[in-house]
Amino acid sequence: MENVKGKVVAITGASSGIGEAIARHLAALGAKVVLGARRVDNLETIAGSIVADGGEAIFKALDVTEPKDVVAFVGYSVEKYGTLDVLVNNAGLMPLSMINNYKVDEWHRMIDVNIKGVLHGIAAALPIFEAKDSGQFVNITSVADRWIGPTSTVYSATKYAVRAISEGLRQEVSGNISVTLVAPGATESELADSISDPEVKRLAVEQFRTNLLPAAAIARAVAYAVSQPSDVDVNEIVVRPTAQKAF
Ligand code: NDP
Repeated sequence: MENVKGKVVAITGASSGIGEAIARHLAALGAKVVLGARRVDNLETIAGSIVADGGEAIFKALDVTEPKDVVAFVGYSVEKYGTLDVLVNNAGLMPLSMINNYKVDEWHRMIDVNIKGVLHGIAAALPIFEAKDSGQFVNITSVADRWIGPTSTVYSATKYAVRAISEGLRQEVSGNISVTLVAPGATESELADSISDPEVKRLAVEQFRTNLLPAAAIARAVAYAVSQPSDVDVNEIVVRPTAQKAF
């Protein structure tokens, strides 16, 4: 695959699931990957196994709700690898619930991580991209960025917001900076672990989280977007399991 080898790619939420798969796949294609998340033990294990397989990977503790952390994270990429070419804003959580369960803390958490975390990533990386007049944001949303159903109201709202932010950013940035939105359908990961209501979790697993895509399928979509020449911006990729018809 062209245009991936040698690129410096920083990935938020790389300690499990889709972020881990993106790190492993892009590293296998020759990218230098920088892994960030809160679970440093996981990052160390994943980065270690990428290096053992002949890839280049480093990691740094990151809480995307802390703007200073995100600045330090992208700064670490520049310090260690000399530049930053791609920021994958992937960190997220999905504590689904009915509005009238008033899980206000969980609403706040989703807004802080899923929306503000992406904004913090943009604020940290855009000055680097503007200074060198090139770079790419890959924002991981969800099919919930265009679909709303019971229990998904706030989660969908956060993903609709990231879709709006991605499109606005795409229009505002200069010619050589690209913005790609990748919207996964149901994918194998730890995402459902964040659902605190046991009944909602049971229903989500039964109704939504069947026929799951392997996380590697999303990583391949990201690699496709990253592999494009600088005058091509793959704006949006939606990837669902073939069997997922309902949403
Ligand atoms: P996982 O739960 O496996 O991964 C979520 C990642 O986000 C973890 O690495 C976690 O790391 C990280 N994270 C959570 N909070 C923070 C934080 N405050 N700071 C830094 N990192 C954080 O789920 P997925 O891999 O599925 O989720 C990745 C993205 O994909 C999310 O944005 C999700 O909404 C999206 N998505 C997933 C789908 C699916 O079916 N799996 C479908 C559609 C979209 P740590 O806890 O170590 O900080």
